[in-house]
Amino acid sequence: MADLGIPVNTIAILQKYDFHFQKKYGQNFLIDTHVLEKIIDAADIQATDCVLEIGPGIGTMSQYIAERARHLVAVEIDKKLIPILEETLGGYENVTIINEDVLKVDIAQLCEEYNDGKPLKVVANLPYYITTPIIMGLFEKHVPLDSITIMVQKEVADRMQEGPGSKDYGALSLAVQYYADPEIVANVPPNCFIPRPNVGSAVIRLRCHETPPVKPKDEALMFSLIRASFNQRRKTLVNALFNAGLAQLQGLSKERLGEFLEEMGKPLTIRGEALSLEEFAKLSDLIKDNA
Ligand code: SAM
Repeated sequence: MADLGIPVNTIAILQKYDFHFQKKYGQNFLIDTHVLEKIIDAADIQATDCVLEIGPGIGTMSQYIAERARHLVAVEIDKKLIPILEETLGGYENVTIINEDVLKVDIAQLCEEYNDGKPLKVVANLPYYITTPIIMGLFEKHVPLDSITIMVQKEVADRMQEGPGSKDYGALSLAVQYYADPEIVANVPPNCFIPRPNVGSAVIRLRCHETPPVKPKDEALMFSLIRASFNQRRKTLVNALFNAGLAQLQGLSKERLGEFLEEMGKPLTIRGEALSLEEFAKLSDLIKDNA
């Protein structure tokens, strides 16, 4: 099969199937062989690996993955792309195509079925409209993962890497850093896609931790505190947490919460955006112990 990373080949297949891009699915197909090579190299795909690709499109990156991996499972929502994928990936015996919304797929089950429950590598040029739910879904369901190498909107990639003090620091930064070690491996301009997106893109590799860098006694409580403080990031941490009406804070006074902050060496006026992951874990433990 012709290399779909070469624009004339992509255009030929789109014309052959009279394919019309669906904006609602975030369809921007890659047409740059250098970028494709970069993603595949960053994903470090070995001949023993099982790879999950989210949104294969017409199969451009899938071809590159199938050349290297033991098995590729590609999940595509748009049924109009399935006959195209059957043609472009038809020459590979190590590819499974699933026509489904990735948010509805039981990925832990796929992992059992195709990789004996061992950690998967995820590689994707993500639909930008659902980047965060896809990433959070993979993490929160505790699917065994080795790494996630993904193309996302440049600003989102920056956000994943940020620490306290930056305006881009937020709940996504903390979640990504809790579960993985993020590294931007390439910046990708709009002209590498058809059609061109309105935003710059970046490839980010998230190497998943075997054990997280902090160990809160109650992970769900820590993430509730994180979400509540960034939902109202202009408020002080104390007010943001109380306004959120978290069940775990019932019976706790603002004064007591202030004492916890004091114990951590933080002023009562501090905002959540000034706390690091370690500090959210510490605060969450103090609240848990005093519940
Ligand atoms: N991987 C291809 C490439 O690099 O050329 C296509 C990338 S395009 C940015 C995103 C792809 O994700 C599209 O094929 C789109 O139809 C698919 N997609 C969008 N939402 C999806 C969902 N919820 N589940 C699975 N695939 C989805």
